Amino acid sequence: MKQSDKIEVIVVGAGPSGLACAYTLAKAGVEVLVLERGEYPGAKNMFGGIFFSSIMEKFFPNFLEDAPWERFVGKRKFALLTGDSEMTFEMSPSSFNRSPFNHSFIARRGQMDQWFAKKVEEAGGNIIPNYCVRDFLYEKGKVVGITSGGDDDSFLADCIVCSEGANSLLTERAGLREKIGPEYRSIAVKENIRFSQSVLEDRFGVTGQQGAAYEYFGSSVKGLLGNGFIYTNKDSLSVGVGFSLSDFIKSGNKKTPHDILEEFKSHPSIAPLVRGGETVEYMAHMIPSDGYNRLPKFYRDGLLITGDAAGLLNTSFFHEGVNLAMQSGILAAETIIEARAKKNYSSENLSKYEEKLNASFILQDLKNCKNFLSFLTTHKAIINEYPALMNDILVEYFTVSEKPKTTIKKEIFNRIRKNVNIPRMASDMWGAWRNLV
Ligand SMILES: Cc1cc2nc3c(=O)[nH]c(=O)nc-3n(C[C@H](O)[C@H](O)[C@H](O)COP(=O)(O)OP(=O)(O)OC[C@H]3O[C@@H](n4cnc5c(N)ncnc54)[C@H](O)[C@@H]3O)c2cc1C
Repeated sequence: MKQSDKIEVIVVGAGPSGLACAYTLAKAGVEVLVLERGEYPGAKNMFGGIFFSSIMEKFFPNFLEDAPWERFVGKRKFALLTGDSEMTFEMSPSSFNRSPFNHSFIARRGQMDQWFAKKVEEAGGNIIPNYCVRDFLYEKGKVVGITSGGDDDSFLADCIVCSEGANSLLTERAGLREKIGPEYRSIAVKENIRFSQSVLEDRFGVTGQQGAAYEYFGSSVKGLLGNGFIYTNKDSLSVGVGFSLSDFIKSGNKKTPHDILEEFKSHPSIAPLVRGGETVEYMAHMIPSDGYNRLPKFYRDGLLITGDAAGLLNTSFFHEGVNLAMQSGILAAETIIEARAKKNYSSENLSKYEEKLNASFILQDLKNCKNFLSFLTTHKAIINEYPALMNDILVEYFTVSEKPKTTIKKEIFNRIRKNVNIPRMASDMWGAWRNLV
């Protein structure tokens, strides 16, 4: 196509937010073109990951039978690692083990994004892969198109949706956010480790399509702000670590992210789970950690931003990203459909998008956890010191000896009094309750 080809809406990026936006527009009869820099949608994408499917299921009620998920999450484990020990809380409620499986499915982005992209095309949307957008085109301050940098390689549109993900360079260039420094992003590295299906199922105590999602906090990433994870695919494990980039830099750590993943894998609680598998994939990706207080501007004349590019990711324990991304894509599409009816894509009309985000679970959830990362950054004892103390106390309490239990309790109490600043701990716990839960 040449410059003269004008399309109603261009979406940059075929991740969950861009595809949800394109699908909603295509279904409403809007002409939409998705440009994706990867060889195919999902080729460059990675997540942990649990695909939270409630929004997808509204699009496709037959999601359970049709979508390429690996296993449903029937078992969840939250563990605190200390030096060479583990304390664990595990749950496998019957409701998570029957339809709709808590809308939580372990999936691979390469497959899921391709599947979703096909649905967009079936609905009438167009997708061009292998097309990297380098910049927006402007006319009198309004975004009117995109270019891939070549002389004759650009598209014009009435409105553009930027769904470029965490590496939000276009959003930055459009002046919607400050320059992305390390404080705005976490880094994650992950391996796919293949096993025979029976070994995997025996090891994780899962059967059939049931799967397990394990999250490891405490010292899983060497005292950094982040965590480790293991998710069971059909016949492989997704094993990874993610942590704050600024925390990593500040720590003066000489280790690479790969070293931190290797140390996680060699922890005595993790090593038996990954032993003997074959690493078949290695990936690294950024995760937004903008948080509610540092979100970018979501729109300007002719342009909206969605999903990770807009920092719309729940950075608390929930690790929800794809559902927020999809919902933001839908809200962007609805805003465009309203603006289209008025034939006016000015920032005034597009500002309705922010109102919709505010009214939805997206910004309400982000507001709720707005202090999560900053609180943990300034209260590192919660990650390192208290889990180690709790571990020591529990070990002492359950260690078998001929000491009377009352003596053991007294010793534990004395130990706490001697080693812990009780008012500080009480204040930290109160802060944790208010900011983390
Ligand atoms: C390690 C890790 C674990 C995660 N775990 C989970 C989890 O378990 N559950 C969960 O819900 N979320 C998880 N997330 C977050 C989740 O992956 C994101 O929130 C979600 O993918 C955001 O969707 P998006 O469409 O906004 O961006 P993306 O999925 O990143 O998609 C952006 C797309 O834009 C394309 N693109 C980028 N720049 C250009 C350009 N200039 N031109 C053309 N195309 C471009 C990219 O190739 C990509 O296809 C995790 C993320 C990571 C990194």
